[in-house]
Amino acid sequence: NRRIVLAQRPRGEPDANTLRLETGPVPEPGAGKMLLRTVFLSLDPYMRGRMNDAKSYAEPVAIGGVMTGQVVAEVVTSDLDGFAVGDMVLAGSGWQDWAVSDGAGVLNLGAAPENPSWALGILGMPGFTAHAGLLNIGEPKSGETLVVGAATGPVGATVGQIAKIKGCRVVGVAGGPEKCAHAVDKLGFDACIDHRAEDFEAQLAAACPDGVDIYWENVGGRTLYAALPLLNAFARVPVCGVAAWYNLAGLPEGPDRGPQILSTILRMKVKMQGFIIFDNFGPEDYAVFARDMRGWLAEGRVTYTEQVVDGLEAAPGALNDLLAGRSFGKMVVRVG
Ligand code: NDP
Repeated sequence: NRRIVLAQRPRGEPDANTLRLETGPVPEPGAGKMLLRTVFLSLDPYMRGRMNDAKSYAEPVAIGGVMTGQVVAEVVTSDLDGFAVGDMVLAGSGWQDWAVSDGAGVLNLGAAPENPSWALGILGMPGFTAHAGLLNIGEPKSGETLVVGAATGPVGATVGQIAKIKGCRVVGVAGGPEKCAHAVDKLGFDACIDHRAEDFEAQLAAACPDGVDIYWENVGGRTLYAALPLLNAFARVPVCGVAAWYNLAGLPEGPDRGPQILSTILRMKVKMQGFIIFDNFGPEDYAVFARDMRGWLAEGRVTYTEQVVDGLEAAPGALNDLLAGRSFGKMVVRVG
């Protein structure tokens, strides 16, 4: 059994000393347990936060502990009702080849699910985040303008496509011309601006002639500062993530933005709300999401892009790529 454990807490970007690959025996499932073989491992930005020993919504990974993560796995042996050998499951067993489970928190996907890895993306946590956060906190109305950063990632691409279905003008922000072209040509966004462009702020303003009614916060940084002055009265800002800052070791250099941020919220009567998907939303919301998303995928109204990386040993480098914007679409590792 190969497993990737947290060797030491990183300062800044994780490096070769942060994670360690260990090898051991395949675990023995006892009575009332099942043995799972990992097929796909999801890589997600929140994993960087779990490396820090900081107050947050979840406990950090312990030093020497297996990195947390959602996987799609195959049931290899089972002494559990409801899980048969050969079933594919969605489980939280982390960065390892094999795991023993008592079935708690494990979702059975059935014997031969179509696109099993989608349970980690468009039909799973990122898709649910986009759907529940946008409809309940963003409250999109036809004719409004929405701006979303990390526009081609699993959350951003889904937020933008749902906003289009709801009749919004959708302006993406992404890193590089290839991602921007994808957002417009494949995802159907009205515009997408490259946040690395020198005149990024002016381009974003020009793409939002009627201002911004919903700013979906995925990244923070320059994207946030460019969107703030464009917010309309009663704008909504679902705070989903601040990916531009996950590798920060301390406060960044530069002007104090606190006054600009708070006075904009005040003057524009902005509703800004942070949320953590499984804390703010429950099974009823999930059922609505699953029904909507399956329908939109079947009708071709939502498209989904995945980047599959091979081998568990590739996961640490792939996570750094994801955080730095070197991934394209939802990043998953094919483990076995
Ligand atoms: P992505 O695959 O979109 O990865 C993050 C992206 O952020 C990068 O690919 C990059 O895209 C962008 N980015 C990184 N640095 C910068 C920067 N300096 N400026 C602008 N953009 C940057 O991730 P997800 O779709 O999985 O997640 C999107 C966000 O949603 C994350 O912040 C994540 O933590 C959050 N999230 C929150 C949840 C919740 O419950 N609150 C649940 C799930 C996700 P690009 O190349 O386009 O710049």
